[in-house]
Amino acid sequence: MQKGNINVQAENIFPIIKKFLYSDQEIFLRELISNAVDATQKIKVLASLGEFKGELGELKIEVSIDKKKKKITVSDHGIGMTAEEVDKYINQIAFSGAEEFIKKFDKVEDASQIIGHFGLGFYSSFMVANKVEIITRSYTQDDENKAVLWSCDGTPEYTIKDTKRKERGTDVVLHISKDAEAFLEEDKILGLLKKYCKFLPFEIVFGTEKITQKVEGEKDKDGHDKYETIEKIRVINNTKPAWKQKPLDLKQEDYLAFYRELYPYTFEEPLFQIHLNVDYPFNLTGILYFPKIKNNFEVQKNKIQLYCNQVYVTDSVEGIVPDFLMLLHGVLDSPDIPLNVSRSYLQNDAQVKKISAHITKKVSDKLEEIFKDNREDFEKKWDDIKIFIQYGMLSDEKFYEKAEKFCLFKNTEGKYFTFEEYKTHIEKTQTDKNKKVVHLYASNATDQHTFIAAARERGYDVLLFDGVLDAHFINNLEMKLKDVRFVRVDADILDKLIEKEENLPSKLDDAQKEKIRPAIEKFADKEKYHVVFENMSETEHPMLIVQPEFMRRMKDMSAIGGGAYSFMGNMPESFNLVVNANHPLIYDIAQKESISEENEKLLEQMFDLALLSQNMLKGEKLASFIKRSIDIIGK
Ligand code: ADP
Repeated sequence: MQKGNINVQAENIFPIIKKFLYSDQEIFLRELISNAVDATQKIKVLASLGEFKGELGELKIEVSIDKKKKKITVSDHGIGMTAEEVDKYINQIAFSGAEEFIKKFDKVEDASQIIGHFGLGFYSSFMVANKVEIITRSYTQDDENKAVLWSCDGTPEYTIKDTKRKERGTDVVLHISKDAEAFLEEDKILGLLKKYCKFLPFEIVFGTEKITQKVEGEKDKDGHDKYETIEKIRVINNTKPAWKQKPLDLKQEDYLAFYRELYPYTFEEPLFQIHLNVDYPFNLTGILYFPKIKNNFEVQKNKIQLYCNQVYVTDSVEGIVPDFLMLLHGVLDSPDIPLNVSRSYLQNDAQVKKISAHITKKVSDKLEEIFKDNREDFEKKWDDIKIFIQYGMLSDEKFYEKAEKFCLFKNTEGKYFTFEEYKTHIEKTQTDKNKKVVHLYASNATDQHTFIAAARERGYDVLLFDGVLDAHFINNLEMKLKDVRFVRVDADILDKLIEKEENLPSKLDDAQKEKIRPAIEKFADKEKYHVVFENMSETEHPMLIVQPEFMRRMKDMSAIGGGAYSFMGNMPESFNLVVNANHPLIYDIAQKESISEENEKLLEQMFDLALLSQNMLKGEKLASFIKRSIDIIGK
């Protein structure tokens, strides 16, 4: 038997491990199983290279709990270690990393993130154990009595001696300390295994489970199918998750089945997915699903799971996945993402930036592909994916350049156009005298119906911009697209929204207008409604209420929280009250010597009708409008 001191200059590593890693105790299991997977992978590689000629046997990893003896054991059938290797890898290497760790631990935000980085993975077992034993037999050792037992009780002293192990491989036995006895509960370990090991490449077995299954070819006495309950070894993981398979080998239903495996509690099916498979200049695999987005999209974040060689690492992928794709679901797997470092480091890492850019490119390629191959399908999905695309275009210049070709406008009739197509569609009719192509839009098809209908009557087209990001998006497009202007359909009268060379002459002179103005101002609050006379067609409404585009935009921006506009939130709402100077009713009143009470009533009626078509006539005002209407009908 050999006795010795673990090679460590810093006095005692164990209290430090316990103290600083306490918050994330549970990772010990992930670390031990990762080591077991590595050792198993290695024997497989050696066999394939012809270096190992023996039986591979069943390459599974077993986790077991002995509640009475307060032990947890992780056993593998991997390459095992010789006594020299135990000395080299466990006694020496680990603690050269430990020193570095001790030097740095006071500077890191989250110590658990760096534990693997310094080769302390195995030692994380001391977070939950007061004594750890390794029983290991190397694949190079034919004599079953030449296995090695390493033991350490949480001081820098360890012992190594010969022991017996029937087969090649390693058992790591943790003697669980008092304060960590919760880990002796089967449910606790099961939960952890399901979290970290769900997709590991070798079977992880843990205890048994009862399952009920149909007995083939047998019926009970009533002629129903017969079922039996059997107890079988519980396998935690799916060793061949979809993302590790070739896209060509998978059908759409396989992708859906995998989605359900990832999110058993999500009922909505995803719209489509992107299978990532890159090996140069970095290694990245994964599947990203486009979910159907509900309105409150904030809550859906953090659905993407990050894996490193099929070991679950985290589901907070900020900094790795471009921000606008955080709403996607699915998995990413890369050994090239430095996993054991802090988040701020990740965000500045060149490799991570490359990966992130690549993901963006893949996503835009896929979208373009669907758009080109199946426009109809793309249009069907548009309302659900619009938010990703707009968010992407707003936040990522590269993505904008790509998406410009397939981003769609939807008009109030439900037809879809690309930017180019739309411009061509409206160019003839909606170019104003300054050569700007005016894009009319509505933000609510019902509320703004009167205005939409009027525009359509004129042969104009109206877009529907009713999404949460539309206000931002419009601002952005105006800067990007040449000679294009966006105006909400109720921002002014149509002749002002799309100004042409020829203007209608006015039927009223200035004196007549100034006679009518005070009559209107009697009932229309001067602070809120600014009266303007316009020369519109006789067939248009006598009065209209509009809100200038710039005013509304500032309001919209302040509502979404645009800092510079926040003062707008406190400003009272104001509108233009447009009086159609060419309308016969207005014309008639203007001809009178003085404005009678009867005329005033009529003007107020017109004003109320204008309010009504903007959905602005409410409460007491609505009641008196109804009363006045009945009076008028009575006459
Ligand atoms: P890391 O895994 O980061 O290298 P660890 O402290 O977890 O650091 O492990 C140190 C080394 O011990 C491993 O690199 C490996 O060589 C060896 N080792 C650990 N566990 C096993 C195992 N189950 N089978 C074989 N070798 C192992």
